[in-house]
Amino acid sequence: MSDRFVGRGDKVLVAGAGRSGLQAARLVLELGGRPILVDDDPHAFDGALWASVKEEGGRVLEGKRIGPWIGEWAGPVVMSPGIPPVLWSGKAVAPPFPHVRGELEWAASLWDLPVIAIAGTNGKSTTTALIAHLLTSFGYSPFLGGNFGTPFSEGARILREARKAGKKDPYDVGVIEVSSFQTESMQSFSPNLYLLLNITPDHLDRYDSLEQYRQAKLHVVRGFPETTTVLWNGAQKDWEEFLPNIKARSVFVGGESGLPGPGIVPEEGALRTQGLENDIRLPTAGYRLIGGGNLQNLAFSVLASHIFSRQLGRPVSPEAFEKAIASFSGLPHRMEWVDTVRGVSFVNDSKATNVGAVEAALSGLPESDHPNVVLIMGGRDKGGSYRPLIPGLKKHVREVVVLGEAREKIRREIGGEVPLEEAQDFLEAVARAFSVADPGEMVLLSPACSSYDMFHGYEERGERFREAVRRLAEKFGGKRREDGAEGNA
Ligand code: ADP
Repeated sequence: MSDRFVGRGDKVLVAGAGRSGLQAARLVLELGGRPILVDDDPHAFDGALWASVKEEGGRVLEGKRIGPWIGEWAGPVVMSPGIPPVLWSGKAVAPPFPHVRGELEWAASLWDLPVIAIAGTNGKSTTTALIAHLLTSFGYSPFLGGNFGTPFSEGARILREARKAGKKDPYDVGVIEVSSFQTESMQSFSPNLYLLLNITPDHLDRYDSLEQYRQAKLHVVRGFPETTTVLWNGAQKDWEEFLPNIKARSVFVGGESGLPGPGIVPEEGALRTQGLENDIRLPTAGYRLIGGGNLQNLAFSVLASHIFSRQLGRPVSPEAFEKAIASFSGLPHRMEWVDTVRGVSFVNDSKATNVGAVEAALSGLPESDHPNVVLIMGGRDKGGSYRPLIPGLKKHVREVVVLGEAREKIRREIGGEVPLEEAQDFLEAVARAFSVADPGEMVLLSPACSSYDMFHGYEERGERFREAVRRLAEKFGGKRREDGAEGNA
């Protein structure tokens, strides 16, 4: 695991001192280099992680803000995904610079074990966690991280340190979530499997166009070798323009219209692989996650794990799959049942920060003869239109309670189509939704916006939702308390 990008004694500029940057700095130290950090936010250097980097010789490039000078830096640069390229390259997506690597791609180049990479607009974290859960159940020791949880630099460093100490490898595979901010700059990433779950509008506040955002996720496929397998969403036609010209193998996750090649299809209560060497049929009754996207996430996860374990010569029986699937309880803030108060169930989907996620949330709800959901939406707008939500709203949503910076725009775009009320703050929104919902109905927080106008992130927004529901439950009595129920809606 030597590195041609960072040599001993090299001064390495690490741009961004968030979690990825600080872990990259620790990896630079591990390789014998000298990390020099730059960040526009002085508070980035407050925490314990920075203290440990500093102790070992890391330093801050004083008096500099992220800017065009990075393109001319004399040594290697490791770039954090949170830094908008426009700040230093003048473009929404930076052209390739040989001396600049994204943190994740650089870490991947130091990782000589298999990699399963998960990309897409929505469902990445759930799918990443589910694949890691399945593989752990089958006896693997995955490193789970990347854009989700632990930066890949940390995994690469832990692996290196273990080998140096003569210990057994702590991992045998990396299950890595990759965002478009990470794939956009990639020059030679070649995972064993690349899952492209879906592409719907998002991050139009950072990209110039939807096409540029699509290409940020797709362009890597052109460089993949024969040893990479791409798992495409069969229903979205992104694969059509790529298939004739790529070396990688393609398999598909199908929808209602079947499969354009080998892959996996949902059937009544089951998933069935098709056209692979050893096909399996898997009942899915034990799977606990709801929300339209979650069946897709399961299909991708099963197909990836099936192909991967066969590649390693350790095929998994359908029975072992079934057992592992049934013990996956999902992630918080994604279609998470919080409580049922006076017959009204509260579901926290705070992670739904774009329109596609809300569409999936609505499409996965059970059929009913009348709209029975009160939807809390709004926050900071990310560009794009809310109008694609209209069919789902009409079918499922009795009233929208809208709040945050985006409320005017949302009112303008969907207000004429469904009943809509504005709330001034978050607590008022939850109280309003509760007062509108009847027993048997659902209050769903699925905002279609980022949370940064009111919160530090979607987790804080979800916590506040839980807290508000807890207060209602204290006042009116909640189901969670009565039967100690836990679980994911
Ligand atoms: P990501 O890491 O891509 O943001 P998450 O698993 O955190 O994905 O889910 C983000 C949001 O998208 C949540 O609101 C979740 O309910 C919804 N979602 C999950 N899977 C899918 C999918 N396959 N398609 C559309 N929406 C999905």
